Amino acid sequence: MMGYLNMGLDALQTRLAWVATDSIDWKFYLQVCSWSVCLFESYLLLRQFPLYSKTEPPPVLAEHFKPETFKKSQAYGKDKAKFSLVSGLYKQVIDSLFLHYGLMAWSWRIGGKIIAKLGYGPEYEILQSIAFAFTLFFVSSLPSLPLSFYQNFVLEEKHGFNKMTPSLFVTDLLKGWGIGFAIGAPFLAMFLYIFKWAGNRFVPWLMAFLLIFQLSMVILYPTVIQPLFNKLSPLSEGELRSRIEALATRLEFPLKHLYEIDGSKRSSHSNAYFFGLPWSKHIVIFDTLIKQSKPEEVEAVLAHELGHWFFAHPTKLLLLSQIHIFTILALFPAFLNAPPLLRAFDFPPSVAAKPPTIVAFLLYQMLLTPLEAIVGILMNAVSRKFEYEADRFACELQTRLKDERMEDMGDRLGRALVTLHVENLSTVWVDWLYSAYHHSHPTLTERLRALDGYKSAAAKAKDVAEKKEL
Ligand SMILES: [Zn+2]
Repeated sequence: MMGYLNMGLDALQTRLAWVATDSIDWKFYLQVCSWSVCLFESYLLLRQFPLYSKTEPPPVLAEHFKPETFKKSQAYGKDKAKFSLVSGLYKQVIDSLFLHYGLMAWSWRIGGKIIAKLGYGPEYEILQSIAFAFTLFFVSSLPSLPLSFYQNFVLEEKHGFNKMTPSLFVTDLLKGWGIGFAIGAPFLAMFLYIFKWAGNRFVPWLMAFLLIFQLSMVILYPTVIQPLFNKLSPLSEGELRSRIEALATRLEFPLKHLYEIDGSKRSSHSNAYFFGLPWSKHIVIFDTLIKQSKPEEVEAVLAHELGHWFFAHPTKLLLLSQIHIFTILALFPAFLNAPPLLRAFDFPPSVAAKPPTIVAFLLYQMLLTPLEAIVGILMNAVSRKFEYEADRFACELQTRLKDERMEDMGDRLGRALVTLHVENLSTVWVDWLYSAYHHSHPTLTERLRALDGYKSAAAKAKDVAEKKEL
């Protein structure tokens, strides 16, 4: 097995050997690619833009939207689209300038200076890599800070969603950087150590490491990281709690804890999700969702979430991401020892002659940008399929659990989705191409239409079953 894997990987590397020898204008290629992606995204926004001028909601939604709310949602959508267009172009100009003036090569030099101050020489590649990565991250994230400030305190504020204060904004940012360093530095050290240790047989080892990392984040994120930003408290006793517990028990969902999260501290957007290990799961519901919807509607949202669990959607997505990671790693060796690649990005010959792994990896990642855009579209398609499956699961609960009280689950889910949309002022008119590229969920109109289909199918199945009993 390992033998075949290595043979295949070697063959692949032979095919890509030209990367290490030919001098190619990689920088030009990258400029063209990133501008193409940016212009394509702008084009999508321009396709979407006229839809914000429609004065009526789609017919299926007409009865749910008050004219006033619809007007508000259109205005919010239009403002967001304008902001996306401007900020997308702004970020692209900055990135393009960084690329042109060799930010990466500069950061590597600064990284070297930082560790020299601490008394370490360039032979400490892992240490310099960490200093480099944080310099690069810090410098390249500075230009977008004013954008996210504007987004929170002007755009979201204007439409009544911002609950954040400037001081919370700053502490969140610092906390985020702190955590990024606390997790990122050891992660990067281990990542680079595996390359050094395993040589050109790094693929299976690195995959194992990344999988372990992903799984530990599943545990660490909600238990350690999220509580730094939000307060999770046990959902109080009452109708909602007993409904969800009963549903979990009947579906044999291993519910350990049921939390309410104070999502409203930062924003009034709302949702629910579950997480945890296969034998011990936690459900988290946003306080805003609880406030906006009736208990039986929140129950339907949870029925949808449990559908994701029932069909093992998170595991399937994890599997897909492993295939994705494997492909990326399998092609990487060709770029690992390619001096011309580094020279194309302004690295001095002394560094390019023996490329630092982290630099080669980041450059390689950048070259993959157009491919990643396509992978993103495919992943969205898969995710949308899963959303439909989970909706269908909720509608079919009455047959699955043989419970008449679940007959209207589809209606309840529909009502909850409409409420979520109305309260979040989500866009209801969506261009198909824009949606295919950006959305991991079907649009509200698509979901309501599908729900109607599942409901009538479930009703038919019930009729047939009753006739059989007679
Ligand atoms: Zn879902």
